[in-house]
Amino acid sequence: MMTISDPVACIAAAPASAGLFLDFDGVLADISSVSDGAVVRPAVPELLLRLNERLGRVAIISGRPVDYLHEMIPTEVDIVGLYGLEWRSNGVIRSLPEAEAWRDTIDSLTAVAVAQFGSAPVEHKGLSLTVHYRSDNGQAAAMSDWVEQQAAELGLEARAAKQSFELHPPIARNKGTAILDMADSLDPVVFVGDDLGDLPAFDGLDELASRGVTTFRVVVESDESPREMLDRADVIVSGPAGAEAMLRRLVESLG
Ligand SMILES: [Mg+2]
Repeated sequence: MMTISDPVACIAAAPASAGLFLDFDGVLADISSVSDGAVVRPAVPELLLRLNERLGRVAIISGRPVDYLHEMIPTEVDIVGLYGLEWRSNGVIRSLPEAEAWRDTIDSLTAVAVAQFGSAPVEHKGLSLTVHYRSDNGQAAAMSDWVEQQAAELGLEARAAKQSFELHPPIARNKGTAILDMADSLDPVVFVGDDLGDLPAFDGLDELASRGVTTFRVVVESDESPREMLDRADVIVSGPAGAEAMLRRLVESLG
């Protein structure tokens, strides 16, 4: 185990065995008020590509469907979508068969959600469903109740996310299990996130740390940062611009 307190220096000391995992929204893309509006910052794809060439493993781990990220992230860089229900590896997109069994249920439920809340706040993610209250805070309580009720009736799992609630197939996958699936023999391991859905990734890092792996929990801070995230941060950077600056510093330090 190394005792360097800066993730960039730590990765630069052992790039070939380093794992760098990143959330997308609020980390590599500025948060947008519309559900389908997060666009990768222009310099990020090239930085990811260069890091992917040098590091043991680089992957995006997102609550977004892989389809959404597919064109914005270079094919060489792996993507885990829907918190691990689907992924793109070496350019090939796959999903968990047990999650696929829920696709029709999610399709029907999307129609019900649109009838209830209108189409604008409803985001159909294929194997999961999100309802957003960002544009109308007054809807939050009704959405929370509706999501809890559907979860109970259909056997889905309800999750809180940034200004939204999500319904997922009841499959024990999250950003933490995604990291543990990919982190085999990596050291150090860094995860960069900004939101509640990223807390399980920190749990994953804790599990790795308990095995002696050097880990870094990097939080991208905004004026909406959940307290629980900041409390667990090893390093805090300011906004997606700060995350991009960290990636650039890492590329430069690798020469
Ligand atoms: Mg995020």
